Amino acid sequence: MIRIPADIYQLIVADTELGYPREACGLLGGHKDDQDHFHVTSLRASPNIAGGNRQDRFEIDPGVRFKFMRDLGMISSHGPLKQPKEYILGHYHSHPDHPAKPSATDLEMAYEPEFIWMIISVMAGKAASITAHKLIQQSGNSELLKFQEIQLLSPDGTPYAALNPIQQET
Ligand SMILES: [Zn+2]
Repeated sequence: MIRIPADIYQLIVADTELGYPREACGLLGGHKDDQDHFHVTSLRASPNIAGGNRQDRFEIDPGVRFKFMRDLGMISSHGPLKQPKEYILGHYHSHPDHPAKPSATDLEMAYEPEFIWMIISVMAGKAASITAHKLIQQSGNSELLKFQEIQLLSPDGTPYAALNPIQQET
């Protein structure tokens, strides 16, 4: 499961609604506890630098990522740290007028198997639902990955209320 504070949750909602009708994206900072639960503690929005049709793809600005790594303490003046306390857990991006499910393009772009993916469905400009996913190996083939949805909770363990469920596609 992944736990995310309400203020960061709201920032993600605001960023993806602001980006509509284009895909918005950004990075999630945090750490994993000894029970393998993910804790988001910081957020860094990024411009979507994907060329072409930015309604169905996203690319995080490498400069934003590098600065976030430095700010999190993942990199010192001597180079990358082996075990930083806080690091990049994954990223979020929006699906304008599409469900919060990983797309075929998302799977093609999933080359960092340790990353958490958060996907926000934004329907007619309003965030409709948020899901979180991790990558697991497909059985019998260690080369192929697939998405597995994970539970997204507030830090006290309660689920977030549905955002705008009337507009959610079924
Ligand atoms: Zn996507």
